[in-house]
Amino acid sequence: MRAWNLLIVGVIVAGSLALTPADPQSATEGDTETTTSTARCVLITGANRGLGLEFAKQYADAGWDVIGTARKPDEAAELRATGATILQLDVTDDDAVKRMAKQLDSRAIDLLIHNAGIGSRAPSLSDIDIEQTARVLDVNLLGPMRVTTALLPNLRAGSGKTIVSISSALGSLERNTSGRYYGYRESKAGLNMFMRSLAAELQPDGFTCIAMSPGWVRTDMGGAGASLSPEQSITGMRAVIADLTPEKTGRFFNHDGEELPW
Ligand code: NAP
Repeated sequence: MRAWNLLIVGVIVAGSLALTPADPQSATEGDTETTTSTARCVLITGANRGLGLEFAKQYADAGWDVIGTARKPDEAAELRATGATILQLDVTDDDAVKRMAKQLDSRAIDLLIHNAGIGSRAPSLSDIDIEQTARVLDVNLLGPMRVTTALLPNLRAGSGKTIVSISSALGSLERNTSGRYYGYRESKAGLNMFMRSLAAELQPDGFTCIAMSPGWVRTDMGGAGASLSPEQSITGMRAVIADLTPEKTGRFFNHDGEELPW
């Protein structure tokens, strides 16, 4: 009789888990689910300002558990105000990446957003500075590679299994007819290739891995003259992410949902 009781309890628990709306793709935008057991979890790198901060604000408002990383958590007041958990991370620092993974322990993450990035100070061929270019590649390309590999166990434990890299239309090979932006273009094209490889390798495990262009946005990087506000860009990208299905893995999307050529 005791074994039967246990079996019945097991069936009830399994049934309720099956009903848990933990999949980011099945979520309705604006969903305000807040209980710990059902909230989906997103980790955003470089979440203390710019696009990362806006991602954190909007996901927190929608009831997600938000983990935002910052190089200087003490100076991340706006991120703290969103209620996000803040973890210290410089994506170029191997030890910091390992430390962050250890802090997260076995916590499940549904959605990972590689957002941290830097621009390039080399507008033309004669401006190329190899040291600066190496730095851009380290942050924009090697950073997401470090963070992805460190957090793969957490992503496997999540039900969302989604990895999004904030790339740039400047990383598109096909669209590059004007050159310039040395270092930055190469870093984002490399990031795009990483996302294609991730998509291929992780597809059998149910992952969806995409690159996105946020558009030209008014942040410290984009400048005051950019065409989009952070709210517009992130609202668009969140809609694209919410609409993802495993069939869309390995693709490159604009913030408005348009598919971009690699
Ligand atoms: P931003 O305002 O300059 O913010 C960049 C963020 O990245 C900051 O949180 C910054 O942290 C963080 N970061 C820089 N280096 C880092 C490192 N080594 N480790 C960890 N974090 C680091 O730029 P944004 O416009 O929000 O850009 C976000 C992403 O969108 C970037 O990947 C960028 O390439 C891409 N993007 C932006 C535009 C645009 O028009 N804004 C267009 C295309 C693509 P600190 O505060 O510590 O420096």
